This record gives sequence, structure tokens and C-alpha cells, in this order.
Amino acid sequence: MPAPNFPSKRAPVYQNVPDEQWNDWRWQMRNRLNTVEEFEKVITLTDSERKALSSPDLFRVEITPYFVSLIDPDDPNDPIRKQIVPTAGEIDAFTGMMEDSLAEDRHSPVPGLVHRYPDRVLMLVTTQCASYCRYCTRSRIVGDPSATFSRADYDAQIEYIARTPQVRDVLLSGGDPLSLAPKVLDELLARIYAIPHVEVIRIGSRIPVFMPMRVTDELCETLQKYHPLYLNIHVNHPNEITRELAEATDKLTRAGIQLGNQSVLLAGINDCVHIQRKLVQDLVRIRVRPYYLYQCDLVEGAGHLRTPIAKGIEIIEGLRGHTSGFAVPTYVVDAPGGGGKVPLMPNYLISYSDHKVVVRNYEGYITTYEEPTEYKLHDPKTCKYCQSKRIEPGQAGVHGLLDGDAMFIKPDGYDVLHNRGGGMHRLRADGEKWKPLGIGEKKDK
Ligand SMILES: *Cc1c(COP(=O)(O)O)cnc(C)c1O
Repeated sequence: MPAPNFPSKRAPVYQNVPDEQWNDWRWQMRNRLNTVEEFEKVITLTDSERKALSSPDLFRVEITPYFVSLIDPDDPNDPIRKQIVPTAGEIDAFTGMMEDSLAEDRHSPVPGLVHRYPDRVLMLVTTQCASYCRYCTRSRIVGDPSATFSRADYDAQIEYIARTPQVRDVLLSGGDPLSLAPKVLDELLARIYAIPHVEVIRIGSRIPVFMPMRVTDELCETLQKYHPLYLNIHVNHPNEITRELAEATDKLTRAGIQLGNQSVLLAGINDCVHIQRKLVQDLVRIRVRPYYLYQCDLVEGAGHLRTPIAKGIEIIEGLRGHTSGFAVPTYVVDAPGGGGKVPLMPNYLISYSDHKVVVRNYEGYITTYEEPTEYKLHDPKTCKYCQSKRIEPGQAGVHGLLDGDAMFIKPDGYDVLHNRGGGMHRLRADGEKWKPLGIGEKKDK
């Protein structure tokens, strides 16, 4: 098996930087580019980019010297460039875009903590990143160094997790958690790790991609104290996979950290099945498992980077079966208005009748699966897992089972959403009867 030979690049302007500096993440942070003058030394700016970079109300721009070096300086359509160098498209007004399109603020019991799913929380720990993606879902809060999270916010977030026993999975995001001062990160992880009911910690970070030199031996030593620890990185295009990133993921996986990748489907960047196939295949070579492919959110300033949903489905159709199953991410759209992630995929189920299920495979080959004629229904009354999850109707903030069916009680304790007979039903906390939740009906009271 040939060793992967990923490129290592440094723009001409940085050729004389001593290696100790180039490989020092603090140097990379200090020497980030953000002005027209700095960019002109590395890439040939287009009029549209120059206009955007000179605009006063632009979402923050910063790019590490390492990451800008991966751009082809003369190609205005370079897939890395379009992710991080703003264009005039960003400052035009868009209709239908939303500041907080995922309604995260509405699901925040304390600042920076989003509790939308029954057993896990999203904890925003900083507003700072090593570089800023132009399509950032959280551009409303990210970038402003004066509006980052404080010690008191961390205390409130950790207190909430500690008094909410159904939270078994804590996902650190931001901003980029790995941009925190090493001591702050260590202390934060230690405090979460010390909560008895927290079973898993996850970090979402693009720092290994923007600045692989941040993945030092010390960082790996810190992280491996908090196993099981999962780290999702964010790679959108094969050009981002370099020798340096491969070294960083090698270090992290040797420290026992499970690596995943979340990418965003972006117009003119990776909206092509062949690019995506190469991306996921290169990711598994560096031991990163593709996790999610996101439909681009309705973010202000990112309208020009959105694709139709059909494009995402076409990409999954071109991956599933065509390449290793574990290299295929789940394509999700984060439902506007706070509905959470909704998986979308090609339809492989052609028809479902009494005893016959007609399916097709990735090549279009059609077969029939004969259902069993006798199937003894699972009996929740004798199942110790079902019994241990039994809860009272209306009991707030608990995920469990009612009469053996999975259900979810919203953290606010009012409505119970319950998947019964294929449709969502709702139950009021006062014990009202189940009633179907109509399509399009708002789940909130
Ligand atoms: C994405 C997300 C999670 C994690 O979801 P998984 O599907 O478990 O990866 C948790 N909370 C919020 C608010 C999220 O947006």
C-alpha cells in the first residue's frame, strides 16, 4: 500500500520564515491576514474581493499563513479561497436569510448552551476561530473578541449540565474550542469530565485544518485525559488535505481520539460528486471518518454559496455503494426555526406492501424482500431496558418510553412529542389525550 503523498505548501512570501516560526501556532495566529494589503502579497485579488475586504460591516476576516498558502493565487475560483476570502456577494442584501436561522438562542437555557436534543448539549465556549468561514452558521456571534464567553458563563453552563442528568454527551463548539488558551481548555474539559452523568465529550474544531501546528504533543496529552473524546474536524475539499493535516490527524488518532469530519455543501466549491468522492476517500486515508455533510444554512451573506437540496441527494447517491460504506457521510439539513438536523437521502425503498418490500440498490437493480409472516412483537413489559426508561407523562426533560414507545419530552416540560404509528403526536403535560401533530403545525405552544 503506497504511503499517501499529500502536498505541503508555503506561499512564496513566507519562504524565508524560519521553520520554528512557521511551525509555531502562535506565530500563525499572530501573522493572520485580514487587510487588502496583506492579501495582495499572497493572491491576486479580484475586484469583488477587494470591494468586500474594504467594506466596513463585513463579517470578520482572518486567515492563517498556512491556510492561505493552499490557495492557487491566480485562480479566482479556487475552492479554498471561496471559503475564506470574502466577495461582494457577501455584502449584498439577501431575502429569506436569518440571523439565528437555527433558533439556537431559543433553545438556550443559559448563554452559550443549546439543549435541543434529549440527551446531549451543544456548549459554545468561545467566539474566536483561527480563520473565519464565510458561510459560518454562527456569524451572528462569532468573530467579536469583546463578546466571547466568560468564566461566569462557563460556570452557568457547567452548573446546568451538572443539574440535568439526562445530558450524557457534551459537544464543545463555538467559535473554535481549540483556540482557547491551553490552560482554559484543560480546565473546562476537566470540569465537564468530572460530572458523573457525562459519558462522552465531543469537540468541533477546524483548527487542525486551518493550523495543523496547533496539534502539539501537549495538546494530545491534554485531550487524552478526557476519554472517550471525539473530535470532528471540518474539511470541505481535497485540497485541504495536506502532509501537515495528515501528521496532525496521525497524532490525534494515536492519542486515541476518534476523528470525524463535518463538511458543508457549497456552491462552486464541492458541489460535485467526484470532488466529494475524492474528499471522503482522502479523509479515510488520514483516519478521519466522514460524519455529516451539511446543507448550507440560511446565513446572512452566504446566499451565493447555497446549492439546491437535490445536489446533496445526488452526491449521496454517487457515494453510497460506490465507495466504502464508512466513508459515506449522512447528509443533513439543519431545519430552520430550530427543528434540528434532518437526514436526507436518496430513496431506496420503492414500495412497501403487506408482505413485500421492493427496494433498489445503488446500481438501480430492483429486488423484493419477503417479510416474515410471523413476528412476535417486542414486549416492553419483560424488557429491562424498556422498564428502566419508563416515565410518567408530563415528567419534564426526560427522554424515555411511554407504553413502550419512544418519546421525547421537551426540556421546557410542556409538550411531549411522541412518534406513534408513524406520525408525530403531542401530549400536554396535564395528561390530555394523544393527538396527532399536523404537518406544519408548530411544535411550540
Ligand atoms: C448538531 C447538534 C448536536 C449534535 O447532534 P448529533 O446528531 O448528535 O451529532 C447537539 N446539539 C445541537 C444544538 C446541535 O446543533
